[in-house]
Amino acid sequence: MIATLLIAPLLSSCSPRPRKTIENLGHACQSEECAAHRYIRYAEQAQKEGLRNVANLLEALAKSEHVQDGQIRHFLEIYGIQEPAMIPDTAYPVETTLENLQFSVNAKTYKGSTAYPIFTSTAADEHAYPVEELFRHMALIAQQHAKYCRKAMDILTREHDDINLVNSWSVCPQCGSVYITVSLDENCTVCGRSAATFILFQ
Ligand SMILES: [Zn+2]
Repeated sequence: MIATLLIAPLLSSCSPRPRKTIENLGHACQSEECAAHRYIRYAEQAQKEGLRNVANLLEALAKSEHVQDGQIRHFLEIYGIQEPAMIPDTAYPVETTLENLQFSVNAKTYKGSTAYPIFTSTAADEHAYPVEELFRHMALIAQQHAKYCRKAMDILTREHDDINLVNSWSVCPQCGSVYITVSLDENCTVCGRSAATFILFQ
């Protein structure tokens, strides 16, 4: 509520209403919510294949998506949109873990290098600066996801198991950034939140 009170004047003072940015928030909400569901299903598949460390990574990534979805919904509420239209996430079947990781790398690379940078520029053009910052953070986090999934793919391809994959991940509860726990800085490098508040997956 406090954050809403602080940010709402920044957004409401922007005139005219940032129509494209609001549309982009709706697209991002749909995308992040589907991604969260997909990661959970992929984690279940990894468990079936005996890949416990991959499953743990995918659960951390699902939490990251959930945090980002919450942030998007927060901004949509400020713009008066309570429940954006959602389509069911049935277009992406669960395959083998290696294939699921490849899909995630492709999807997150696109979001991190193309979709969210475009959304960031559009928000800046429409003077929706808090949303511009959100999309900039989301682009960075999508690149993190792609990097971690690619690393898991490399290990699985080379070693045919996940015993050497990192087994402890930390998720920032404010922006959804994901870190290797043993390599944590004092604060989130994306939003500045104290690492003491991070959510642990191990
Ligand atoms: Zn953060």
